[in-house]
Formats: sequence, C-alpha cells, structure tokens
Amino acid sequence: MRRNQQPRILESVIVEAYAAEGKSLARQDGKVIFIEGVVPGDVVDVRLGKNKKDWAEGHAVRFHQYAAERVQPFCQHFGVCGGCQWQMLPYAKQLQFKQQQVFDNLTRIGKVALPPFEPIVGAPEDRFYRNKLEYTFSTKEFTPGKPSPSGESYDDPLPGSAGFHARGFFDKVVAIEKCWLQDDISNRIRNAVRDFARANGISFYDIRAHVGMLRTMQVRLCTTGELMVNIVFGEEREKQRIALLEFVKQSFPEITTLLYTINLKWNDSMFDLEPQVYTGTGYAIEQLEAFRFKIGPKSFFQTNTKQGERLYQVTREFAELDGSQVLYDLYCGTGSIGIFCSRGAKKIVGVELIEAAIGDAKENAALNNIEHAFFTAGDVIDVCNDEFFATHGRPDVLITDPPRAGMHEKLVNKILEMEAPTVVYVSCNPATQARDLALLDAKYAVTRVRPVDMFPHTHHIENVVQLKLR
Ligand code: SAH
Repeated sequence: MRRNQQPRILESVIVEAYAAEGKSLARQDGKVIFIEGVVPGDVVDVRLGKNKKDWAEGHAVRFHQYAAERVQPFCQHFGVCGGCQWQMLPYAKQLQFKQQQVFDNLTRIGKVALPPFEPIVGAPEDRFYRNKLEYTFSTKEFTPGKPSPSGESYDDPLPGSAGFHARGFFDKVVAIEKCWLQDDISNRIRNAVRDFARANGISFYDIRAHVGMLRTMQVRLCTTGELMVNIVFGEEREKQRIALLEFVKQSFPEITTLLYTINLKWNDSMFDLEPQVYTGTGYAIEQLEAFRFKIGPKSFFQTNTKQGERLYQVTREFAELDGSQVLYDLYCGTGSIGIFCSRGAKKIVGVELIEAAIGDAKENAALNNIEHAFFTAGDVIDVCNDEFFATHGRPDVLITDPPRAGMHEKLVNKILEMEAPTVVYVSCNPATQARDLALLDAKYAVTRVRPVDMFPHTHHIENVVQLKLR
C-alpha cells in the first residue's frame, strides 16, 4: 500500500485554534490540520487536500456542531462570494485573532524581544468601509453547486451578470445584488448598469471568446462625498456606449465624475489604458485629516479611508517628529504617509517604483502647499544608495511600507548601514515583517507595536512597528 493511502476524510474533527490566513487548525494523531471556512469550536468532517507527514490542509464537508460564538453572517452572498469570509465571527473576535496573529508571527518568526503590544485599532464602522470597488461583468455566472464538467457551456438564462470575479474561475462572476462594502449607491449603480445593458441589447464581456461590450466598472466613493465611476468597455460601439453613459449620468446625479475606458486587450490591467472623461473633472478628492489627495481613475490610495487615517496617525506618532528631522518615506505610493507627516519634518524624501504614483505624489504635495518634499521613482534597492543619502541627507526617521513580500534584504542591509535613530515599519504581512525585524535586530530594538484593522470581516491585517537604534 502506498504511504499516502489513508482516508481522505477525517470525521468529527474539533477545531482548536485560529492559525493564519483565515484558516483554523485541528490536531489529529500528532498531525496539524489547517482548515478553511471554520472557526475554533466547530466540529466538522474534513476532506483533506495537501497531506504531509506533520501537517495537512483541508476543508469542511460537513458540520456536526457550530462554535457557540458564531454569529449569523449579514450578507446574502456570504459563502459564495469570496469577499468577507469572517462574517461568522463577531467583530471583537476577529480583532482578537488579528492581534494574536501579529503576536504569533513576531514571536515565532521574528524571535526578537518585544514590548507589550498596544491594542489593535479596530474600525468603528465595519461596513461600507471601502472607498474603491471594482465590479466585473460577464456572460458567465458562478453558480455554487452547479457542476462544471467542461467549464464551457452554461445555459445562463440572461445575457450576462454583474458582481465580483469568482475566485478560482477564469471566466465567471459571482452575481451580486447587494454588497456591504460600499454605501448602497454603489449597488444601485451596478444593478442599474446591468439592467440597462440587459434591456438594451448591450453585450456582456465573454473573456474566453474575447467579445462583448461591458467589461468592468470601478466605483470610488470618497469621504468628501465625491463619487467617481469608470466604466470599461471591450468594444468601440459609440452609440451603445453613449446611450449607457447618458443613462448613468441622468440616473445618478450623485456621480461627480463619470469616465469610460475602452479596453480591446485580452487582459484587464489598466496601466496602459487611457480613461476618458465623460462628465466632471476626471478625478476625485479624498481627505485625511486636513490633507487633500487627488485620486485619478488609476491612482492607488488606501482603500479604507477612515482606517487609513488611523494607520497614518499611528505611523506619525511612532515617527516622533519634532520639525527638525529628515524623513524618508520608502515605498511611498502616492506620497500619502510623507504628506500626512509633513508638518513634523524638515524634509521628506519619498521613493516608489511606479512612475505614475510619483506623479500623483508630486501633485498631492502641491495640493497641500508642501514645498519641502522630494519624490523619486525607482526600485528602492537601486535608488537608496550612498549617493542618494549623501544628496538628500542622512535619515533621522525612516518609514518603510513595503508590499506583502516585505523588504529586499539589500534594503534591510542599507537601513542597518544608514543608522537612522528611528525606523517605523508599516506592514500588510506580519510574516514578512517578522522576518525583516529579525534582520534589523542586529542594530534595532522593537520599541512599539500596534496593529490596525483596515479590512473588517477579512483576515487581512496591517501592523505598525517602531524600532530604535540600540
Ligand atoms: N505607502 C503607500 C503605499 C504602500 S503599498 C500608502 O500608504 O499608500 C507598497 C508600495 O510599494 C506600492 O505603491 C508599490 O508600487 C511599491 N513598491 C513595490 N516594490 C517596490 C520596489 N522594489 N521599490 C519601490 N517601490 C516598490
């Protein structure tokens, strides 16, 4: 018998604890099993996927008992839509798991000395918190439970559906009637566009055949009340396009700027496309404290404005600025952290890979009358060399906010060499942050830690760490 031929279904497994990445764990015969879609306290039958000597992965196929602390998910699309997978947990419990997750990573992977953690900054509003959503239109709808032997032909009764791209499916959408991530105006616009297209013979995009008119739509709703909508079309068809845009303009006076983009490519990426303005200025203004940010249809901005403001407040507090310091903002995106901290710094130096983001950063600095900021585009490991620091000044405070992969080791070494007295590390992945903290430990002590929850009902977590030169 082959070594792996054990039963693929484990029965009545008691889920013990939260693990990571949204999965919880159980132990069976000395083996750790990571399970999706369950919470500690559930008792389930588990179908195993990956199955190694000490650990396995699986998903629940039958529930014998639900954890007592489970709550009823508030969204009708829960379980089908991949969006807000933690709705079955009370928000306070989600926060507790997130804080625990950061602690586990920093102690187990980082293995560095830690101060007591400051309490996670929870979101006062756990619904309607996203300023940006992208909806997908498609000829094919993902229907749970419906087998897809060929993946090809469903006899969908409608010409197309609108919602979110279905996880694990190249060509399907999860049809959405009501999403709780954005104020209901967003749902009304999406449903109206869908219904107008259905009623007026405007085709939905078929990604396999690469034909169809309606592809995607981005809705950006700012705390200032500004509402930017960009509709992406897969074909020219000017008459249909204008009919739809005119309908949207007339039906939704709340929209402050309406754009469209023609995308004849096979992929959905926006970076090489030129959105066209149909009404309004073509951008929206977002505000954090008194700072204003101009956001174009392609600009990056923290997707949860209110928690973004809190994240930056924690970051600024940890930076301990007194007006005399040279502040570096690495991985600066559109310059928002540097701009937010600008009143406390003598000079701000921002570095970011994406050229267009640096263009936005410069515009945002000007919009806020900031003249002591310098922004440059390039890879941090190429830009941040001796000459660069000699030109712009030794860093007194260095803020770093890398993507999920964390910092390149070369950059960590450069930071160790530059010896800024204070480093603030903002991270969206505590595992890579922990790895980098272990390297920085050669010269830096972790002095403050405070996670911030930017994404309620998901397992994603942001963490801010203050480091001081020993
Ligand atoms: N600090 C910003 C953005 C953080 S997201 C904010 O708060 O809005 C991380 C940023 O790092 C992204 O904008 C990404 O484009 C940038 N980035 C990724 N790899 C990079 C690299 N090697 N060098 C410079 N910037 C990089």
